[in-house]
Amino acid sequence: MSADPVLRLQGLRKSFGGLVAVNDVSFDVMRGEIFGLIGPNGSGKTTTMNLISGAFRPDQGQILLEGQDIAGQPAHLIARRGIARTFQLLRLIEDMSVLENVMVGLAFRPRQPWDATLRRRAAEFLELVGLGGLGGAAVSELTYIDQKRLELARAMALEPKVLLLDEWLAGLNATELHTGIAMIRQIRSLGTTIIMVEHVMSAIHSLCDRCVVMNAGTRIAMGTPAAVLSDPLVVEAYLGE
Ligand code: ADP
Repeated sequence: MSADPVLRLQGLRKSFGGLVAVNDVSFDVMRGEIFGLIGPNGSGKTTTMNLISGAFRPDQGQILLEGQDIAGQPAHLIARRGIARTFQLLRLIEDMSVLENVMVGLAFRPRQPWDATLRRRAAEFLELVGLGGLGGAAVSELTYIDQKRLELARAMALEPKVLLLDEWLAGLNATELHTGIAMIRQIRSLGTTIIMVEHVMSAIHSLCDRCVVMNAGTRIAMGTPAAVLSDPLVVEAYLGE
């Protein structure tokens, strides 16, 4: 991790009708960092991720990716500029093969022909997530964890500067969690910065360099997992859930 912020959120605000879901939120994410976004249900984590990925336009504030404001740009342009994401509810294309799902991710990048090179590159990303032998399988034949791996391969095929993981570890058993954590570490070691929304606290502890804690739309704490999770404000926010 370096002291160079790859992503800077400054004074972000988003409301839905009268409800302020994200209220004046600012934080910097450093290049190569694994950064956690945590907080009780309804605290504004998913909305923040949606603002970063371009699914929502902020009412106010800036999102600087390597110094350039991307706030409010369409999601596909933000993806091209280097921010990829996985979804809490997986969004795979059921009637395409496993390999083709990754190829869709690759074809998203500028100037990529749908050819043998693409096929080979897609196979490399499947290897990366441990699905090397399953390229020809149908998505529906995959187990839940393998579908999650596939979502990850598809996001990684964009070769993002920043990868957003939305509860990617949710629903895994202990063994799968162990594998999932190792996979996230491996992705970081490739130089990708990761922002993760996660409820699995053991994973936050073992993976995150720093995290922000949100409550009722505002940032209530920021620091190492050990520091924020022992912060009385944070303990109180979780108890009030
Ligand atoms: P979290 O991810 O921390 O559980 P969310 O960002 O999903 O929290 O939600 C924050 C608040 O914004 C909640 O009160 C939620 O009901 C509201 N909210 C989120 N998305 C929408 C939406 N599309 N329309 C209206 N309200 C929303």
